[in-house]
Amino acid sequence: MESPLLKLDQSEWEALCDGCARCCLVKLEDEDTGEVFYTDVACRYLDQETSRCTVYANRSTMNPDCVTLTKSNLSILNVMPSSCTYRRVHNGLSVALDATALRVSGRVISEEVVADDELEDHIVDWISVDE
Ligand code: SF4
Repeated sequence: MESPLLKLDQSEWEALCDGCARCCLVKLEDEDTGEVFYTDVACRYLDQETSRCTVYANRSTMNPDCVTLTKSNLSILNVMPSSCTYRRVHNGLSVALDATALRVSGRVISEEVVADDELEDHIVDWISVDE
Protein backbone atom coordinates (compact mmCIF):
# COMPACT_ATOMS: atom_id res chain seq x y z
CA MET A 1 0.00 0.00 0.00
CA GLU A 2 1.25 3.49 -0.83
CA SER A 3 2.55 5.49 2.12
CA PRO A 4 0.22 8.34 3.19
CA LEU A 5 3.36 10.46 3.37
CA LEU A 6 3.60 10.49 -0.40
CA LYS A 7 0.34 12.46 -0.61
CA LEU A 8 1.66 15.38 1.45
CA ASP A 9 2.70 18.63 -0.22
CA GLN A 10 5.86 20.37 0.98
CA SER A 11 4.21 22.53 3.64
CA GLU A 12 2.20 19.57 4.97
CA TRP A 13 5.41 17.56 5.05
CA GLU A 14 7.30 20.17 7.05
CA ALA A 15 4.36 20.72 9.41
CA LEU A 16 4.27 17.05 10.33
CA CYS A 17 7.52 17.26 12.28
CA ASP A 18 6.76 17.71 15.98
CA GLY A 19 10.22 19.15 16.70
CA CYS A 20 11.11 16.50 19.25
CA ALA A 21 14.69 16.26 17.91
CA ARG A 22 14.90 12.59 18.83
CA CYS A 23 16.22 11.91 15.35
CA CYS A 24 19.06 14.36 16.11
CA LEU A 25 20.60 12.00 18.66
CA VAL A 26 23.66 9.91 17.89
CA LYS A 27 22.73 6.33 17.04
CA LEU A 28 24.86 3.22 17.27
CA GLU A 29 24.30 0.15 15.12
CA ASP A 30 25.15 -3.41 16.10
CA GLU A 31 27.26 -4.59 13.15
CA ASP A 32 26.08 -8.20 13.53
CA THR A 33 22.35 -7.70 14.00
CA GLY A 34 21.75 -4.27 12.46
CA GLU A 35 19.92 -3.24 15.62
CA VAL A 36 19.99 0.52 16.22
CA PHE A 37 20.54 2.00 19.68
CA TYR A 38 19.83 5.60 20.56
CA THR A 39 22.09 7.61 22.85
CA ASP A 40 21.48 10.77 24.84
CA VAL A 41 24.20 12.46 22.81
CA ALA A 42 22.90 15.16 20.48
CA CYS A 43 24.20 16.43 17.17
CA ARG A 44 26.49 19.43 17.67
CA TYR A 45 24.12 21.57 15.58
CA LEU A 46 21.09 21.00 17.79
CA ASP A 47 19.90 23.94 19.86
CA GLN A 48 19.21 21.99 23.02
CA GLU A 49 16.93 24.62 24.53
CA THR A 50 14.52 24.77 21.61
CA SER A 51 15.15 21.26 20.21
CA ARG A 52 15.66 22.89 16.81
CA CYS A 53 18.42 22.34 14.28
CA THR A 54 20.59 25.45 13.92
CA VAL A 55 21.64 24.58 10.35
CA TYR A 56 18.38 23.05 9.12
CA ALA A 57 18.60 24.16 5.48
CA ASN A 58 22.16 22.85 5.16
CA ARG A 59 22.01 19.98 7.63
CA SER A 60 23.00 17.23 5.19
CA THR A 61 26.12 19.13 4.20
CA MET A 62 27.05 20.26 7.68
CA ASN A 63 26.56 16.78 9.12
CA PRO A 64 26.84 13.95 6.58
CA ASP A 65 25.48 11.56 9.23
CA CYS A 66 22.24 13.53 9.55
CA VAL A 67 19.21 11.33 8.96
CA THR A 68 17.52 13.53 6.38
CA LEU A 69 14.12 12.07 5.63
CA THR A 70 12.50 12.76 2.25
CA LYS A 71 9.77 11.10 0.21
CA SER A 72 12.54 9.38 -1.75
CA ASN A 73 14.11 7.58 1.19
CA LEU A 74 11.22 6.43 3.37
CA SER A 75 13.16 3.24 4.13
CA ILE A 76 15.18 5.19 6.70
CA LEU A 77 12.01 5.50 8.77
CA ASN A 78 13.13 2.18 10.23
CA VAL A 79 15.84 3.98 12.18
CA MET A 80 13.65 6.90 13.23
CA PRO A 81 12.27 6.84 16.79
CA SER A 82 8.97 5.00 17.26
CA SER A 83 7.40 8.33 18.32
CA CYS A 84 8.36 10.08 15.08
CA THR A 85 5.27 11.46 13.40
CA TYR A 86 6.52 10.54 9.95
CA ARG A 87 7.11 6.97 10.99
CA ARG A 88 3.72 6.79 12.70
CA VAL A 89 1.79 8.22 9.75
CA HIS A 90 3.68 5.90 7.42
CA ASN A 91 2.67 2.93 9.59
CA GLY A 92 -0.96 4.07 10.00
CA LEU A 93 -0.57 4.80 13.73
CA SER A 94 -2.02 7.59 15.86
CA VAL A 95 0.12 10.74 16.09
CA ALA A 96 -1.70 12.13 19.12
CA LEU A 97 1.41 12.12 21.28
CA ASP A 98 2.47 14.94 23.60
CA ALA A 99 4.95 16.81 21.41
CA THR A 100 6.32 18.88 24.30
CA ALA A 101 6.96 15.80 26.44
CA LEU A 102 8.77 14.13 23.55
CA ARG A 103 11.35 16.90 23.23
CA VAL A 104 14.90 16.01 24.12
CA SER A 105 15.58 19.37 25.78
CA GLY A 106 17.22 18.97 29.18
CA ARG A 107 17.90 15.27 28.67
CA VAL A 108 20.87 15.24 26.34
CA ILE A 109 24.45 16.45 25.99
CA SER A 110 26.32 17.55 22.89
CA GLU A 111 28.52 15.23 20.88
CA GLU A 112 31.17 17.93 21.23
CA VAL A 113 31.88 16.76 24.79
CA VAL A 114 31.64 12.99 24.30
CA ALA A 115 34.47 10.87 22.89
CA ASP A 116 33.58 8.20 20.34
CA ASP A 117 34.68 5.42 22.70
CA GLU A 118 32.28 6.74 25.37
CA LEU A 119 29.18 6.64 23.18
CA GLU A 120 28.17 3.13 24.25
CA ASP A 121 27.92 4.39 27.84
CA HIS A 122 25.26 6.85 26.66
CA ILE A 123 22.77 4.37 25.21
CA VAL A 124 19.32 5.18 26.60
CA ASP A 125 15.98 3.36 26.62
CA TRP A 126 13.61 6.34 26.85
CA ILE A 127 13.48 6.93 23.10
CA SER A 128 10.90 4.26 22.30
CA VAL A 129 7.20 4.78 22.95
CA ASP A 130 4.44 2.19 22.82
CA GLU A 131 3.09 1.81 19.29
S1 SF4 B 1 11.95 12.32 15.22
FE1 SF4 B 1 10.46 12.80 13.59
S2 SF4 B 1 9.04 14.20 14.56
FE2 SF4 B 1 10.86 14.18 15.86
S3 SF4 B 1 12.17 15.88 15.11
FE3 SF4 B 1 12.79 14.02 14.03
S4 SF4 B 1 11.61 14.07 12.10
FE4 SF4 B 1 10.59 15.47 13.54
